[in-house]
Parts: sequence; C-alpha cells; structure tokens
Amino acid sequence: MSSSVTTAVKAATLDKIRQALQDRPAQIAAAKQRGQKVIGWLNYFVPEEILLALDAVPIRVGTGGDEQLVDIGARYISTKNCVFVRSVVGLLGEKKDAYTPLLDLLAVDASCLQVFRLAEVVKYYFKYETAILGVPRSFAAPEGREYFRQELRSFTAELEKFTGRQLTEAKLNSAIELLAKIREALRYLYEYQAQDYANLSWREVFEIVHAGFYLDRAEYLKLLQELLAELKTLPVDKNKIPGLQPRVFLTGSQLSPGDVKLINIIEDLGGQIIGDDLWTGLSSYLDIQVAAPTVDALADGYLARVPHAALPYLDISTDSRIKKLKELLQKFRAQAVIDHTLRYCDPYTFKAGETKDILNNAGFPFLEIHTEYASSDIEAIRTRVEAFLELVRTRNDVAGGI
Ligand code: SF4
Repeated sequence: MSSSVTTAVKAATLDKIRQALQDRPAQIAAAKQRGQKVIGWLNYFVPEEILLALDAVPIRVGTGGDEQLVDIGARYISTKNCVFVRSVVGLLGEKKDAYTPLLDLLAVDASCLQVFRLAEVVKYYFKYETAILGVPRSFAAPEGREYFRQELRSFTAELEKFTGRQLTEAKLNSAIELLAKIREALRYLYEYQAQDYANLSWREVFEIVHAGFYLDRAEYLKLLQELLAELKTLPVDKNKIPGLQPRVFLTGSQLSPGDVKLINIIEDLGGQIIGDDLWTGLSSYLDIQVAAPTVDALADGYLARVPHAALPYLDISTDSRIKKLKELLQKFRAQAVIDHTLRYCDPYTFKAGETKDILNNAGFPFLEIHTEYASSDIEAIRTRVEAFLELVRTRNDVAGGI
C-alpha cells in the first residue's frame, strides 16, 4: 500500500521555521562580529546550558545522508568508523555548508569513542580548536558521578577562558529554564504526533526537531510554542487510517539532518512513524532534571538520564535504555519497531539482536535495518519494510486494530 504523506492542512508555522533557518547563518555571522563565540558540539553529554550561559552560540554539528562527505572523511579517519563519523569529518574538512565555516570551537564528549576520535582527527588535520568532556564508563556508580562533576567543572573553566565570559548563576539559571521549556515543547510535539490523525508527517517532525540544532534557542522556543498552538487549531488528517497505517517506532543509531532515506521509505509505504528514542530525536529531550543552577547539578542531571548505548552496560535485560524504550512504546501505542543501525555503529548494532529478543517477547514486531548513506540499498530496504508493514497490518486485522 502506498499513501500520500502530504498533510491535509499545512501548519503555517513550518514555513516560518524554514525561513528562520534560511536567515540563521547571517545572524550567527553578525553575532560573531559582536564578539560571541560559535561552539559546535557533538555527542550526548555536552550541556548546551553552559554554552548559552557563556553567551556562546551553540550549534549541534553533524549531517547525514551524504555519501560524498563519507568518502571525503574516509581520507582522514578509518573506514571502520561509522558513516556518520566519516561524514562529519568530511563536513568539517570541506567547510562548504552554511555553518561549519562559522565555528570557533568544537566541543565533544567522550560517550561514543568514535566521536572522540573524530575530534582528534579534525584537530590534527583541519586545526579545529576542541574541548573534550570526559564521560565516566562507570556512569551509574558514585565515583562516576564525582568524575563527571569534575570533568564538567574543568570543561566549563576551559570554555570561560575561551569565550572570555564568566559563568554566573543568573545566566546559568536562565539557560536551564530556556532549555527545559524547549524540551517540554518537543515532548508535546511528540505526543501530538502519536495521535491517530496527527497533522504532520514524520519528515516534518524530523525537520522541526533538527531546526533546533541551529536556530537561536529563544527564537526556536517561540516558534515551537506557536506551532503547538497552531496544531491544536488544525483539522485532523483524514488521510490517516489507523490500522492500515502501522504505528512504527524508530530506535537505534541516530538519524541526522539530511538522513531521510529510511523515513521516506516508511512513510511512502504507508507506515505512520509515531515516535523515536534516537539521540538526534526524542532521547536528548527526555528526563533531564537539573535541581539547581550549578555546574554540579547540571552534571548530575545529564548523567542520570537514559544512558547512551555507547556506555558499557552488559546486562541488557536490566538496561535502563531498554526500560525507557518499552515505556515509550506503550505510551505512544506503537505497533511495531524499526531498529535503524548505521554501518560500523558498534554501540547500537551490537545490541540490536538482544533488543529484538526483548521486544519480541514483549509482543512488538521488530525489524532491523542496517544501512549507510549510499543509495544502493534503497530497493532492498524498501522490500523489507514493505513486507514488515504488511505483516503488521495483518496482525492488526487479526487483533481488530490496537
Ligand atoms: S553511536 Fe553509532 S552512529 Fe553514533 S557516532 Fe557512535 S558509532 Fe556513530
């Protein structure tokens, strides 16, 4: 079955978000002129709160889906690194996009060690200034917590020196509040999209979430709030037919801006994506509780959330990442799970088999798609996704829909 993914009535705020993105590089260039530093960051534990409180402009670095950048990156970093990492090395080396030439510094945390290696490589070959935030392997132990507090303190001191600004409690507090509101708005967006007749396609959700990697965070919050208010006023999308359009949840390796291959296939085949726990999606916006406007409290808040799969936790049956995933599947009424793993993404690929067993036992059909940024596997993926969605539809028929 094929279906249109064009929404019935378009949210006008989407165009405003697209326009804001068009305007953003020039805004950042002007901020640089005024003396603000532009800090690109990668991975999972870099707190944007610190960057904002130091008057820096944060950019979440990294695009996907571009095979050419992967090839360029592979000239500098081993081909045994995931395609995302190779592609980002290519991006940072080429500097042909709108944002990379504006970067003053690259901040990286050492959760996924492939990204840590990326930082070393781009510092060596392309002379990027870098700041590295250590992440404890023993993330659940008290000594791990203490280590991360200390790491974040020295990371903050390094950035204070680099930006020439002093961290104040008042500035940290407003950054914490601003980001908490953005996370809340994004959680609402996901809840909206999990409804049967939601008026956005997942491609649009993907675009909206990723706009927050670049836009001024206060402006982004305003746009998100406007969008959420607008969505309430739009009529339901009658193109969506619950049951016929299996409710698919995405998990696994990140899907970065530009990496739309899998999303296009699922939506073109009539699957309704209703949520994800990707670190480029909902995961980054879940469960960060910061108890006080201090660096230590920030460290505790970031460390306590669902851990990145790259951190060692060998007993998958008690892994809080899987526990959270199951909670989200229930909450969003998922009918099926597609696990997207990128080539040479060991953290997620290695865990895919066990994740499948656990979710199958919990009653969720599960499909693993192992891919890269080349277009050569599109047809093979399409065939597998099509068969999987048919299976879920048949299951829905038998169950009388969920
Ligand atoms: S977690 Fe996987 S996709 Fe992400 S940077 Fe590490 S290896 Fe690459």
